Amino acid sequence: MRTVELVEKKRDGGRLTAAEIAFLVDGYTKGDIPDYQMAAFCMAVVWRGMDMRETADLTAAMVATGERLDLRRFGRVVDKHSTGGVGDKTTLVVAPLVAACGLPVAKMSGRGLGFSGGTLDKLESIAGYRVDLSTQEFLAQLGRIGIVVTGQTADLAPADGKLYALRDATGTVPAIPLIASSIMSKKIAAGANAVVLDVKVGRGAFMKTPAEARRLARTMVAIGKAHGLAVTCELTDMDQPLGRAVGNSLEVAEAIATLRGGGPPDLVALARIAGAEMLLLGGRARDRAGAVRRIDRAIADGSGLAKLRALVVAQGGDQRMIDDPGRLPRAPHVEMLRASRTAYVRRIAADAVGNASVRLGAGREKKGDPIDHRTGIVVHAKIGARVERGAVFAEVHHAGRPADAAAIEQVRDAFAWSARPVARPKLVLGRVAG
Ligand code: URA
Repeated sequence: MRTVELVEKKRDGGRLTAAEIAFLVDGYTKGDIPDYQMAAFCMAVVWRGMDMRETADLTAAMVATGERLDLRRFGRVVDKHSTGGVGDKTTLVVAPLVAACGLPVAKMSGRGLGFSGGTLDKLESIAGYRVDLSTQEFLAQLGRIGIVVTGQTADLAPADGKLYALRDATGTVPAIPLIASSIMSKKIAAGANAVVLDVKVGRGAFMKTPAEARRLARTMVAIGKAHGLAVTCELTDMDQPLGRAVGNSLEVAEAIATLRGGGPPDLVALARIAGAEMLLLGGRARDRAGAVRRIDRAIADGSGLAKLRALVVAQGGDQRMIDDPGRLPRAPHVEMLRASRTAYVRRIAADAVGNASVRLGAGREKKGDPIDHRTGIVVHAKIGARVERGAVFAEVHHAGRPADAAAIEQVRDAFAWSARPVARPKLVLGRVAG
């Protein structure tokens, strides 16, 4: 087989066989196929798509590049994953809450992708936190404290690790087959029994419409079914950033505040929904109301926060940053954006806010770029809020480089205003389950 012929076949709208897909995935993982050919292939998939059979074959080929963990000895293990958004720090809140309720959480997370943030980058704001656990360390920690949040080990779906970084830097993220196979290959390889997926919808998500999001959700549910994995997808709003903080250490601080009972309403609501769903799938609650009560209790009694601390300690992080978030890395400059007239927030373009955070250094412009954990944005007024003339509606935390001025203006322009009251958008837009 010749790589260029397979790229051309997909470019021209052909359907690849399982063997052809495995050839590409294997060859790329081993380094036999260069980045430029794989990037061309991914772009062909963005334009031409893949059918369900090809997507399932792509997922299976990615899983087959590494090991598949056997977690049966831990009982039911439930995972959670978001398709990516702006300000989405839900994992940092939900994983410890669920683990504090006694359900083991084994999570392999990703880095930022395009304008969307990544849990690993956020966790690396905590000095010393390791995201490169070996499979042995992963299993030992899960047994010891019931929670692991790490990057893909070299042994689990290594194809996704490489492809993810390539797609981030080549504009090839937003394709249902690529997103579904990326997420599901990690989940299948990591050995959980069930997974709760948060499929983000809106301008700050890869899926812009509920119809697209539903298609992605159905694809992932079908892949899960084929691999014996129970999958539930919540479709949630990502037209505006989630919570208030966007940017790595700012988001860790917001997650800690949420575990202390002082989180923003939308983040708290999402944590309750996803956490309850995980407890139900894991058989730790009889009904939804009981599951939500357990999550609320884990916030109120501090056991969720204690679990986050245990996670950070187990993975080598500085626990003082959890006890005192003031120790997290901080940008040297904060620009306050003030309203020029009294008005209601009509729109906050989450993609623009996400892109501004990348320009500030909180994400990557190209593969392998270092990131600045200190920088980002804090949104003070969400859609529907009334802001008085002169009041601060957002803060931009920056390093003070000349180029930051453009990012600050991008944040200002992301807000649109109305003289009349504006309804707050719905957070949950739908649900797809197997
Ligand atoms: N999250 C992933 O893990 N992969 C994608 O491709 C997109 C979001």
